[in-house]
Amino acid sequence: MADPVGAAVAPGPVAEPHMWRPGRFMVIAAHPDDADFGPAATAARWIDAGSTGWLVCCTSGDQGGERHDADPLALAAVREAEQRAAAAVVGYDGVSFLHQPDGALENDLVLRELLVREIRAFRPDAVLATDPETIFYGDGGINHVDHRAAGIAAVDAVYPAARNPMSFPWLARDGLAAWSVRRIYLFWSNLPTVHVDVTATIDRKIDALRAHASQIRHPDALADRIREWARSEGEPIGVAAAEALRLIVIDDDADEGPSG
Ligand SMILES: [Zn+2]
Repeated sequence: MADPVGAAVAPGPVAEPHMWRPGRFMVIAAHPDDADFGPAATAARWIDAGSTGWLVCCTSGDQGGERHDADPLALAAVREAEQRAAAAVVGYDGVSFLHQPDGALENDLVLRELLVREIRAFRPDAVLATDPETIFYGDGGINHVDHRAAGIAAVDAVYPAARNPMSFPWLARDGLAAWSVRRIYLFWSNLPTVHVDVTATIDRKIDALRAHASQIRHPDALADRIREWARSEGEPIGVAAAEALRLIVIDDDADEGPSG
């Protein structure tokens, strides 16, 4: 229920910044640019502290244009190059493109196997993905169907498939043994539970976004919007800029991971 009109609302206690850091992490996104609108500043912070990151794009964004007669393959090539440039700004070790169809991404067994292959090959402690439960952004917009599909596909690939040796057993015969991801961080969530202080890396996020030139008409206005978004997400932990994430702990290992 909303606060009664005119009632004084006491400020709540300031929460602690989220300090756990994975040694290795993988961001799984539907489109080129999602990871950069998403947790890019968190990724940059973790990489600066010594983590190793990898980015997986399920599609190459071949529907991300405004002309019905645009060449989707040419657009995909442009967007892959933009995403590779942005990933270099953030500091990922590399990017995988799974070449699934933009606008028609499905959480099917084909995508699940592709994601399990990526997870077993890279062996991340944490996977970051779009929150599949976000259909609407609060009351201010609709979450793209591919974002929901990529999010639930990432969740289903992490658990149980990637860790189950009997799931896709031919991958193990190829040398890709079962791997247990210990945490999932969901971005673009209406239910964030942790806030990462990204005061030191918010500029890298903005620089990474500028690399997506085919998608951005007014980069300076976008930069202002990103800074305002980070500022508001920093308020709960009392910092100038933060990214809010929904953390799912699959294996409780608070004493194991490096902290940062
Ligand atoms: Zn997207």
